[in-house]
Amino acid sequence: MHYPEPISKLIDSFMKLPGIGPKTAARLAFHVLTMKEDAVLTFSKALVDAKRNLGYCSKCGHITDIDPCHICSDKSRDGSMICVVQDTKDVIALEKMRDYNGLYHVLHGAISPMDGIGPEDINVSSLLVRLQDETVQELILATNPTIEGEATAMYISRLVKPSGIRTTRIAHGLPVGGDLEYADEVTLSRALEGRREL
Ligand SMILES: [Zn+2]
Repeated sequence: MHYPEPISKLIDSFMKLPGIGPKTAARLAFHVLTMKEDAVLTFSKALVDAKRNLGYCSKCGHITDIDPCHICSDKSRDGSMICVVQDTKDVIALEKMRDYNGLYHVLHGAISPMDGIGPEDINVSSLLVRLQDETVQELILATNPTIEGEATAMYISRLVKPSGIRTTRIAHGLPVGGDLEYADEVTLSRALEGRREL
């Protein structure tokens, strides 16, 4: 299909977003044409502002508009605990829970030799600096329950061991509403490992 240039440019831009194929991109582009001009301007400004005003916290790596981020600069939080996660979205998920009052460290990925991602490609070195500077007593390794996440947790735990800081791994249990018989072996063995006193 041949579109006028401004439309094909817009379609190309939408296609750069994750999960957007050519059909959806075309639908979105034509939708933009039906929008009022000020709505389009607000939308484009929101895109540019988000990009310009957001960055990563120099301490924990979480996405933020101030540096250090709101979590790192919150004096009421427990600085003796750092929860290590793979992605900024994990911080947001854990914060929603409201049960955790410690600090975070975002790795921006996990070690995956298959994809050529080594320890130097994730945000680990700044974690080690933090462990030297701050009064951390416990490192909670909350990387994903995948092969890469497990390998990353193992790597960090080995790295940190000599410092005497306690490292813990979150328990990956069974999903609520799930049936024991349908759980895979890894999930079941993790659930068993993570058992606690009742
Ligand atoms: Zn931070």
